[in-house]
Amino acid sequence: MRAITCAAFGAVVMCLGVWQPSRSAEAAPIAAPDYSLHRVTDKVYVIYGPFDVPNSENRGFRNNPVIVLTSQGVVVFDPGGSAHAGEMVVRKIGTLSKDPVVAIFNSHAHGDHWLGNEGVKRTYPQAVIYGHPGMKALVDGAEGERWLAMIERLTAGTAGGKKVTGPDKTLNNGDVIGIGDTSFRIHHTGPAHTDNDIMIEVVDQKVLFTGDVVRNGALGLMESDASFKGNIAAMDWMAKKKFKHYIPGHGRAGGIEIVRAYRAYLDKLLTTVKKLYAENLSDHEMKPAVLRAVSAYKDWAGFDEVLGPHVSRAYLEVEAAAF
Ligand SMILES: [Zn+2]
Repeated sequence: MRAITCAAFGAVVMCLGVWQPSRSAEAAPIAAPDYSLHRVTDKVYVIYGPFDVPNSENRGFRNNPVIVLTSQGVVVFDPGGSAHAGEMVVRKIGTLSKDPVVAIFNSHAHGDHWLGNEGVKRTYPQAVIYGHPGMKALVDGAEGERWLAMIERLTAGTAGGKKVTGPDKTLNNGDVIGIGDTSFRIHHTGPAHTDNDIMIEVVDQKVLFTGDVVRNGALGLMESDASFKGNIAAMDWMAKKKFKHYIPGHGRAGGIEIVRAYRAYLDKLLTTVKKLYAENLSDHEMKPAVLRAVSAYKDWAGFDEVLGPHVSRAYLEVEAAAF
């Protein structure tokens, strides 16, 4: 099975047809399984989520939670896609530090990145959660409940979620949050993966957590609030900043090469759609040619499922720009 990363509602529903649990929910343990910690720098760690869709084995865990050790406590970015995933992240933090979690940053409103807030808050209720104003508005509204219910459904009720736990505070482009000896600078360059993305810089470590503005080895849907052009511009911006480490929302961290690889995919897709739009092809007619143009990415997880929706989304973007 090819999995889709960064679930959008359509993607998850589409995956239901191919997902088969290998064991019953009753037989599965209550806690989410532990995933490995990976060191990025002496004070920045990441847990790589699997590329699978949410299921009763991974408990909805599929993204890259980031752990930052500061002199004033632990900071977490995107603590997983379920309450049980958030509890797993807390267990992994315990192997690095005895300090409490004091802050959580959420990169955007897709639930596979913020539903873990609830699990972290169960142990550290004082932790302050930050997100973009657009993200907070969505999660506090119907989207929050929709994500919570959807992940419980996809995991056969094993995700452990009881209540929507969104940001306590909002922040925006240029904000700097100082926590102990560490500064976190917030970047929002306009609509990219969504219209509510924030990217978080750990200033003294030259680390940028990109959320889903960058992906490595796995594709996901671009929904109606996404912008191919804006996503490419965001990657051009981060390349100029010359960070040492880029941590994507899904897939392995790396240097500028991982940014270039995903940028090349989006750019090839968008320029091909633009060219064929100018030749009066419909989105359906141009799909085979676009598929050939981006065939270098066919082994990325989710490729088969998202290519069609990506072509349709890019087509609408090109059409809107033409008027
Ligand atoms: Zn996403």
